Amino acid sequence: MTFELSDRVQAVPPSGIRRFFEIAEERDDVISLGVGEPDFATPWAARDAAITSLEQGKTSYTANRGKRELREAIADYVADRFELGYDPDEEIIVTAGASEAVDLAFRAFVNPGDTVAIAQPAYISYEPGVIFAGGEVLSVPTKEEDDFRLTVEGLEEAGAADADVLVLCYPNNPTGAIMPEEDLEPIAEFAREHDLTVFSDEIYAELTYDGEHISIASLEGMRERTIVFNGFSKAHAMTGLRLGYALGPADAIGAMNKIHQYTMLSAPTTAQYAALEALDSCDNDVSEMVEEYDRRRRFVLSRFREIGMDVFEAKGAFYCFPEVPEGFTAEEFAEEVLREQGVAVVPGDVFGDVGEGHLRVSYATGLEDLRKALNRIEAFVADHT
Ligand code: PMP
Repeated sequence: MTFELSDRVQAVPPSGIRRFFEIAEERDDVISLGVGEPDFATPWAARDAAITSLEQGKTSYTANRGKRELREAIADYVADRFELGYDPDEEIIVTAGASEAVDLAFRAFVNPGDTVAIAQPAYISYEPGVIFAGGEVLSVPTKEEDDFRLTVEGLEEAGAADADVLVLCYPNNPTGAIMPEEDLEPIAEFAREHDLTVFSDEIYAELTYDGEHISIASLEGMRERTIVFNGFSKAHAMTGLRLGYALGPADAIGAMNKIHQYTMLSAPTTAQYAALEALDSCDNDVSEMVEEYDRRRRFVLSRFREIGMDVFEAKGAFYCFPEVPEGFTAEEFAEEVLREQGVAVVPGDVFGDVGEGHLRVSYATGLEDLRKALNRIEAFVADHT
């Protein structure tokens, strides 16, 4: 017997990067700059809190929306860091990673046939999320000449005025772009004027290296139309603990909780104890990781420039987005540098057509490996240009 697949599952193409894992397995000296997760372990105090909670037998479900204490801590944190005011009882839901929050939002607010505008290049999960919800994706390209910031011209050219939802992610995966307040204001105005719901993925909010992150939900008239996604995977190096959250108006979070209470019941309990401690006592750990990412960022950017590959000044997350030299597509470069030099990077077109001609290079890897990897890329470029 073969399973008959649903139309929605069939509509999502297989992941473009699986082939790279196969090539990577052929060599045993691969340095991966392809990963999208911190190379640090979760700060010790947070791990210790998780261990203690287990020792105390705290292994039951929590409230559907997450432990109240954690929601209070999240409310204090986002108020303090991003000038966001959300009520812990009604306007915050704790989820299994930001990933679950993103999925809940697509399912709660996208009807079949609705248009979801996505600023691209974009994190790879949005488009499948829209398709699983039955919506249609509208790509809104951003340009290197604008430092990969979203512009009103870009929104207008793409026809986003007629969309239902706009998805933003700043600091951005894969480009490392950020959106300062003066660039966010016109986007907010566009959203208000055309009555768009905004999904703002702010999972990299702590990881900025030039100015503080501004949440679009903190701008005038935006709170009532925005869902903010955030979580502990990146800043607190907790990817495997699977903990995130969404912030939004009470009716919106209530709708997301309606799905969550049946499909997830509650986010991982052990991780909620870790997250509570992470917010309570791990600010210094976060600062130290951010300093280290910044050191690596400056090193990687300067090495690409020395090698002669153009690279835009990434200012957030832990990625940079260099251009491939002439004569290569992104995929060819990524495949050949992996085969010949054992360096794994991700071709930019994986993040949408507009990423063609670029590579996503993650610097969530120690400086010594970064140094070796950049030397290998230099040798590859010297051999081929
Ligand atoms: N959003 C973006 C932009 C990401 O890069 C990632 C992780 N790669 C996620 C969401 C998912 O994060 P989580 O581990 O919290 O599900």
